[in-house]
Parts: sequence; structure tokens; C-alpha cells
Amino acid sequence: TYVISLPCVDVKDKACVEECPVDCIYEGDRTLYINPEECVDCGACEPVCPTEAIYYEDDLPDDMTEWLDINANFFAEL
Ligand code: SF4
Repeated sequence: TYVISLPCVDVKDKACVEECPVDCIYEGDRTLYINPEECVDCGACEPVCPTEAIYYEDDLPDDMTEWLDINANFFAEL
């Protein structure tokens, strides 16, 4: 899955939402989230993010790895 990380917080540009072919990017209070159950790993969202918040899960910087769980937990709590 692709993952939205810290730079999205309080920005929520939503350019990624327009690109996602399966509409798996959802809006929370302070950031956007990618549903890992629905993401098809197409990568279309990653280059359009103006804050470079989106990474493939294996490419998350070391200080952003927690965002894998943060994205997944958002959907677990719904
Ligand atoms: Fe959507 Fe593709 Fe980004 Fe996954 S990688 S969130 S399917 S645009």
C-alpha cells in the first residue's frame, strides 16, 4: 500500500484524491488517509502531492514509518 505521512497534516491539498483510480483516499480531521485494503499500488498519487507526503510503504523514511499504522488504524476505527 501507499501511505500518507506527516507533511499532509493541516495541508490536505487533495491533489491525490483526484488521481486515485479506486477512490481509496479519505479525509480525516487533520490529514488524508489511504485505505490499505483498497489501494492497488498504482503510484498515481505520489508524484502529485505538493508536500511529498506520500510514499510506498517500503520506502517510508525512518522517521515516518509510524504512518503505515496511522493510516491503517483510521480505517480500523471506522
Ligand atoms: Fe490510490 Fe494508486 Fe495512490 Fe493507492 S497508489 S492510494 S490506488 S492513487
